[in-house]
Amino acid sequence: MQHIIDRFISYVTVDTESDPSSQTCPSTEKQWDLANKLVEELKQIGLEDVTIDENAYVMATLPSNVEHEVPTIGFIAHFDTSPDFSGANVKPQIVTNYDGGDIVLNKELNIVLSPSYFKDLLQYKGQTLITTDGTTLLGADDKAGITEIVSAMEYLVQHPEIKHGKIRIGFTPDEEIGRGAHLFDVKKFGAEWAYTMDGSQIGELEYENFNAGYAKLTFSGKSVHPGYAKGKMINSILLANKFINKLPKDEVPQKTTGYEGFFHVHTVSGSIEESVVELIIRDHNLKKYEQRKVFIDKLAKKFNKKHNKKFGGPIVSCEIGDQYFNMKQKVEPVMHIVDTAEQAMKDLGIKPLIKAIRGGTDGSQLSYMGLPCPNIFAGGHNFHGKYEYVPVESMVKATEVIVKIAELTATNAAK
Ligand SMILES: [Zn+2]
Repeated sequence: MQHIIDRFISYVTVDTESDPSSQTCPSTEKQWDLANKLVEELKQIGLEDVTIDENAYVMATLPSNVEHEVPTIGFIAHFDTSPDFSGANVKPQIVTNYDGGDIVLNKELNIVLSPSYFKDLLQYKGQTLITTDGTTLLGADDKAGITEIVSAMEYLVQHPEIKHGKIRIGFTPDEEIGRGAHLFDVKKFGAEWAYTMDGSQIGELEYENFNAGYAKLTFSGKSVHPGYAKGKMINSILLANKFINKLPKDEVPQKTTGYEGFFHVHTVSGSIEESVVELIIRDHNLKKYEQRKVFIDKLAKKFNKKHNKKFGGPIVSCEIGDQYFNMKQKVEPVMHIVDTAEQAMKDLGIKPLIKAIRGGTDGSQLSYMGLPCPNIFAGGHNFHGKYEYVPVESMVKATEVIVKIAELTATNAAK
């Protein structure tokens, strides 16, 4: 366990915050520091084909140790941390044998991690927790994932009696700014499927996420002096407002959960002459997602039908586009890859928590790039902020899950 703690701390103390305003890859120079360090470490533990490309994507191979054909599988994690909160000068604190009470993260600043607010803490009574000092995030998202993958590979190298096929590992920059999969070379990676180790609490296993799109509606108006506007002025702000009121009132993020989709108006700007409404469209079900897009388009057409004549041209223009798709559509045909992960957890006495992600993941992008890629827990909680923490026992379990998946994949292939 100390070995895992030391490894994790050696990663989180390297600042790798990504930056959405940057156009380069990696988005920040400092991500190279950890990427290069990982390359050295992977070589040192005995992996082969350790490579780092011009965009800082790190890949390595653990060769097969069996005679029979086994599909090549992969494990992926990201080394950047969220720009939502500082990742510089992380000073991890270790709480051994957690007693279920308040954890003072920072006495001076009076920052306390309390189970009265973060109830999940209570399931880790008696365990070893790693927390922040209240001034930074921790970076368990996703350096816990990296720790687990490296530790599992090291374990397999040291235990050749555990039989497995070829395993590829990949570490990516810039996941937190939505670009982790963008420049991932799926062909070079060469795995039939992979798992991202990037989920939260122990047991999480995810292979469904939203189908996601956006719509941008631009309303036109006619500005006339308000004192002389009768029958002449067209106020685009009021049109935009009318449009928003036609959207289903209960299908919004704050009133939906589980598999319920929504429309989410996130930006409105306007003047008499022109108003713009921007919204996102989300649904796990592909058919319903398409229907939602049609709904918006039809609504815009209705507005045009009603108001065009008075305006003398299209009063609203509507732009609709896709952002990402539910990985389920790519994973379902190879459902055995989820079953294997589930079996691995059960074999280790971990209760699988299978749920649909209400968002997107790098795995969904990778799945559409030809690498089906469910997501497995990395163990941390309260990502992207000062209350982030990770139980060491969960990292140990995730490491064991990786080893078990490797083993099960080899035995399944022999059947
Ligand atoms: Zn992550």
